[in-house]
Amino acid sequence: NQQILLKSYPTGEPKASDFALVETVIPEPGEGEILNRTIYLSLDPYMRGRMSDRASYATPAALGKVMVGSTVSQVLKSNHPQFSVGEFVLGYDGWQAYGISQGETLRKLDPKQLPISYALGITGMPGMTAYFALLDIGKPKAGETVVVSAASGAVGAVVGQIAKIKGCRAVGIAGSDEKCDNVVQELGFDACINRKTQDLNSALKAACPNGIDVYVDHTAGAILEAVLQQINLGARIPLVGLISQYNAETPPPGPNLMPLLIKRALIKGFLVGDYQERHAEFIHDVSQWLQAGKLKYKEDVVKGLENAPTAFIGLLQGKNFGKLIVQVGDD
Ligand code: NDP
Repeated sequence: NQQILLKSYPTGEPKASDFALVETVIPEPGEGEILNRTIYLSLDPYMRGRMSDRASYATPAALGKVMVGSTVSQVLKSNHPQFSVGEFVLGYDGWQAYGISQGETLRKLDPKQLPISYALGITGMPGMTAYFALLDIGKPKAGETVVVSAASGAVGAVVGQIAKIKGCRAVGIAGSDEKCDNVVQELGFDACINRKTQDLNSALKAACPNGIDVYVDHTAGAILEAVLQQINLGARIPLVGLISQYNAETPPPGPNLMPLLIKRALIKGFLVGDYQERHAEFIHDVSQWLQAGKLKYKEDVVKGLENAPTAFIGLLQGKNFGKLIVQVGDD
């Protein structure tokens, strides 16, 4: 059995020497087990996260063991009542030519429906990522502009095409002219920016004349930075991947957004002016809480208008303690 083991957790970019190709005997399935012959192995960016013992949303792949990964296989031998020899299955056998499975996580594939390899892509995990990230978080409306990075990739290509189905303007960002041509001509995006040769800010401005309503982020870093300059009021940004930093040994400068992804946290812009119509609701609750002693309030009163400048300078240095007000006249 040909197997690829993860030998070491890579430092920076993974190297061939982080892996070891070994030959072992093809295992025999035990009671209730299935022996699968791998036909396709999926390679996905998330695997870089598994090749690390840093905190992530999943446990790291074990060193010295077969590297993990999704597989499309054919059942070669079966001691399992629900699987017969010859059937095609989606499983998680990892980087090896033959795998043993207990069947719980196997999904049968019908080669008459769609090519079996699609189960690793457009009808599998990446396609599902595109579908829900765009529709559930991005909530695109017809006429809006949707931007996606890694646009020719497994997830990005689906994002842009669903955006078109929903009546949006779809703009991709990809790493070569060849990829960009494909994204526009084959996939039907309205435009595509080459992140390696074009100036992101001006190219985004030109490709998104009405600004950006949805950005499906696959990269973080410089692309996110450029996109943020041109988002519209109420824009939605599904944070799906941060591939620009997967090989980084130290966190990139500025806030690192990875915990947002891992914790499915929400950051949303806020302007109090948007809530003027709900003023009565606010006053009602807060007055009641004050009267009932449930809210405490501390004022820092500076006497004399002439002291306002110094007090204001102090506010930005943390010298105030509580709500800073200036007493200008007698009370
Ligand atoms: P892709 O098929 O898109 O392949 C990865 C692509 O990322 C590369 O082809 C490259 O495209 C781009 N890329 C690589 N390095 C950089 C970099 N330094 N800066 C900018 N772009 C870079 O992969 P997938 O479609 O499978 O995944 C896309 C993203 O979605 C990944 O970040 C992945 O981790 C994430 N993901 C997240 C999931 C989730 O549940 N949160 C599930 C599935 C995927 P190019 O050179 O054309 O820009």
